[in-house]
Parts: sequence; structure tokens; C-alpha cells
Amino acid sequence: MTTKFFMIITGIGNNGGIGITTFLANFFSILKEKNINAYWLSLSDQIPPLLYNPNSEWDEQHILYRQVPKWERTHCKFCNECEKVCECGAISRYGDFYVVYSELCISCAACISACKKQALIFENKKIGSIESLHSDSSILRVNLNQREIFSPWHTKLIFEKIQKSFSRESIVIVDISSGFRELWVDLIDFSDYVILYTNDLPMWETLYKSLAHDQAQVILAVNENYFDAFSEAGYSFALSIPHNKIINEEAINGKKITDDNYQYIIQELLLKLNLI
Ligand code: SF4
Ligand code: SF4
Repeated sequence: MTTKFFMIITGIGNNGGIGITTFLANFFSILKEKNINAYWLSLSDQIPPLLYNPNSEWDEQHILYRQVPKWERTHCKFCNECEKVCECGAISRYGDFYVVYSELCISCAACISACKKQALIFENKKIGSIESLHSDSSILRVNLNQREIFSPWHTKLIFEKIQKSFSRESIVIVDISSGFRELWVDLIDFSDYVILYTNDLPMWETLYKSLAHDQAQVILAVNENYFDAFSEAGYSFALSIPHNKIINEEAINGKKITDDNYQYIIQELLLKLNLI
């Protein structure tokens, strides 16, 4: 079944191990069971065991490029203007040559504008790719070159790629490792919905007050043991995610979570998103 719209749903966990990836993976499985055209995209090489087939190869689907200035010795007058204007420290002079460190560059073009001798020109440099599992092309991951450190710049690039490359009638579930708070603003801006899984009430209250202008609707999810505390503070709309030993074991062993209350919460999320 195709949806009549395109939707990006991103999961954010403010701490590791609280279960946002497990919850998203089970939600994704339900979408697939309903024959909804859904894709899983991990912004890292971590794939939840429920979705991962260790015997399958990865196929390159989309190449990720960065425009990086290339230095032309023959035109250069060694005035150092490029090194001075680069706020990222991506250009360094060593004797009679310049090095551009591509992993520090944010492609802002300031050095190219500053160079009066046209000794710097942009060239495309491959910085990684979006890959899909050979056995299931709906499971994707971002595989960046080793020296790349995930930053807001990468987030923007990848979401632009998602917007351009995926069918207009599909749902893309985006999973990111927990932490990475410097990326949250962009993740919220680029997504249609964000599921924020947190047990930290003060953090949520700060975020909630600052959300009015943002594009994504943020759906709050909390561990069931914290639900009452959030509810008493006025956030009774939170999804209360069950958490126990059996759920943990099923998640680690790559099994679908069988707990009835857990499945009920997934149905509640489907309702919130108008998917049933
Ligand atoms: S494009 Fe911008 S970030 Fe990259 S080297 Fe030039 S000035 Fe630095
Ligand atoms: S600004 Fe241009 S001419 Fe000056 S050092 Fe840089 S590359 Fe060479």
C-alpha cells in the first residue's frame, strides 16, 4: 500500500539504552505488515537486530558528496587570504603548498571568494554513501568515510537527499544514535514528526517551551515508570512505553516485542499519525 503523502519520522533518545531504536524498529515492522511503503534509515551503521540480516551485503544507493576547494599551485600567489578567511581551519599552508582538509570544510566558498587569482575551485569529493541491505532494500544506513564526524552539515545534506530521492508516497523512519544534541534543532526542522523519547522532565520542559516555531510535531514518549511524573507536570499526552526484562531480551535477540501494552502504544502512535 502506498500512502498519499511523504512523511519523515525521526526518533531521538536523549540517553542511550532507553529504547527509542527498539520502539521505532517495532513501529517500522508494523508499517511493513500493513504493506505501507516505508523505509528505515539509520544515520549510523547501527541497525537494530530486529531489522538486520547479518548474512546480507550492503548495496550503495546514493553517493554523498561534499564540495571541497581544490588548490591550483600554478595560479596561486601565496597571499594567504584563503587561510585567513576560513573559519573552519580547513586550509593550512605548509611551505610552498596549501592543504584543504575536506573533513573540516563546510563548503561555504569564503576562500574561493577571497582568492583573487582563481587558484581555488570547487570539486566534488565523495564523503560516504547511503546503502541498502541487499536482502531488503527498504533498510538503509548512512555510511560516512572514517574521518567524517557527523555534524549539522551532514544532517542537512542527508535530509536533502531523502527529500529528493525517496518516493513522494512513502514514509521514511530516521534513527540516530542517542545524544548528539547539537543535531536536534535540524532534525526537528527537517522532519515531519519527531518522536522524542526521554525520561528527563526538566530537559523536556525546556525543549517544549522552545518548540512553537519548529516544523516537526514532536511526540513525547516516556518510559512507563516515569509517566506519572510527566503526567502530573501536565504532559499526560506522552506515549507511555512499557519497559521490562522480557522486552529487553526480545529486543536484544532481534525479536518483535510481544508485550500487549507495547503493541497498544504502537497502535496509539499510528492513530496520532493518522495511519489507521
Ligand atoms: S569552502 Fe569555506 S570551509 Fe571550506 S575551505 Fe573554503 S573557507 Fe574553509
Ligand atoms: S587566496 Fe588564492 S592566491 Fe592567495 S594563497 Fe589562497 S589560493 Fe593562493
